[in-house]
Amino acid sequence: MNAFDWDGRLVSYPAERAQAYRASGEWSEVPTGGRLHESALRFGDRTALITAEATFTYRELDERTDQIAAAFGRVGLRRGDPVIFQVTNRAATVLAWYGCLKAGLVPVATLSQHRMHEIGHISRKVGAVGHIVEAGLSFDLVRFAREVADGHPTMRHLFTIGGESGIDDLGLDIPPTEAREFVESIEAQTDSEDVAVFQLSGGTTGVPKVIPRIHAEYWNNALFYARALGWTEDSTVAHLIPVIHNAGISCALHATHAVGATLVLANPDAGPAFELMARSDVTDVLIGHGHYQAVQTSAFDAVLPTLRHTVLSGAKVSPELFARVDTGRWAGQMFGMSEGMFLVTPLDAPASARASTVGVPIAKSDEIRIIDPGTEQQLPDGEVGELCCRGPYTIPGYFDAPDHNVDAFTSDGFYRTGDLAAWHEFDGRRYLAIEGRIKDLINRGGEKVNAEEVELLLMQHPAIASAAVVAAPDERLGERACAYLVASNGTELTMVQIQEHMDSLGVAKFKWPERLVWVPELPRTNVGKVNKKSLRADVVARVEAERAQS
Ligand code: AMP
Repeated sequence: MNAFDWDGRLVSYPAERAQAYRASGEWSEVPTGGRLHESALRFGDRTALITAEATFTYRELDERTDQIAAAFGRVGLRRGDPVIFQVTNRAATVLAWYGCLKAGLVPVATLSQHRMHEIGHISRKVGAVGHIVEAGLSFDLVRFAREVADGHPTMRHLFTIGGESGIDDLGLDIPPTEAREFVESIEAQTDSEDVAVFQLSGGTTGVPKVIPRIHAEYWNNALFYARALGWTEDSTVAHLIPVIHNAGISCALHATHAVGATLVLANPDAGPAFELMARSDVTDVLIGHGHYQAVQTSAFDAVLPTLRHTVLSGAKVSPELFARVDTGRWAGQMFGMSEGMFLVTPLDAPASARASTVGVPIAKSDEIRIIDPGTEQQLPDGEVGELCCRGPYTIPGYFDAPDHNVDAFTSDGFYRTGDLAAWHEFDGRRYLAIEGRIKDLINRGGEKVNAEEVELLLMQHPAIASAAVVAAPDERLGERACAYLVASNGTELTMVQIQEHMDSLGVAKFKWPERLVWVPELPRTNVGKVNKKSLRADVVARVEAERAQS
């Protein structure tokens, strides 16, 4: 299967809008890998990437990834072949990413924590042909990849980051000119509306949805973000949340390389990450809510002297946190999602707007509507409603999900985010504030856990008659999943038994419930739906009572 077999499963941007985005320059005709090459021609000797294990200039990164692309072609991977990524923030991850793009392959941005429940489904859905996994992690992803490939209808190639048959040595024997010719031959065949990357959605129903991002817009999404923050080739930008997330690829990898900046890529462990950042004279960083606490410890002091801009994202920002990173320098916020739309607080926004809102959209043609949930009725400024958006890099539809797309978009193509938001005015300018969400998920330190998906998995256990999963507040991660359970025959399973059940179904660990409450029955609304509002209030009360006791 390749790109040409996806007809009918992809939703194109309406021709009129596509034409407008081309005319405004917000869409590009250059394939994504070609954009890195353009940067390499401009910024050749500058440092493109610093990790704990390696450093690359733009020229080195460009040449190595040409060779890797050519090596992918040599083993028989073909343009349009999807490749599953299960990796962490390593230099070789960056090589593999750009190598795939330059070979016309389509990276599928799954997580190293995903297991058979997720990878088995997604890899079949997209017809994955390759699997890139990191060797040497506590879970043996290499063995796992072999299990995935066993009996898989399309999977044929396994590559590793680290370990044997590693990406690090791939294509080293291919002369750079030959590799460049190969990449150019691929790019000559690439249409700007071809899929560049598959991202995954946290989803609002059962299974994760696949998000197709196309060449015309994906790199530019990142470029607009870099411009909004005033980055130049003199910026040194750190990233310590998983780079494979859309936020990692767009706000870190592509955004730095779009403007000739240096990317300092660290793993999420705050201690070593802050040390690497301090050694590398980092000027800019995106902090997800999984690191809000770490930033407020003295370990972050070493990073402060060179730091100019800190962007906070993912959860409400406390005044103490804001002051910690704004005093003597600039702090702001961003809102972003794999489906597209990014907002950032502008550099010249007053501190009050930067402390309490996520700012304004980053592209000229971005459109936002705040609507009365469940309707198409627009609400006036100041009122809280569902954030809906449309624009040059917000998808017009999920991959192979026609029924879901009907509900996920308004009749005129605005994506219903499931987030609640309102416009607020500061000094005569409008800024958007995120006020909550209506979608039923748990945001565990940035990893989205779909409540319905977990409920269905729990109910596969014969001892569980019904299940409702809600977010329990958590100081470090923001939220963790709490399951309210009704026993089928009076026997209440232990946490260990629940964990064994989730493990036996091959479910990623970050989705496992971390708190159980057994109840005789689930509370219902007067229309018979599970009353999640009362369950949320109940778990908040439980957490508060525990905190008061400790
Ligand atoms: P993802 O597609 O995994 O990047 O997740 C996107 C979702 O993360 C959004 O729809 C929001 O629910 C949430 N999100 C992203 N940025 C923020 C933010 N600044 N504040 C609150 N929630 C956010």
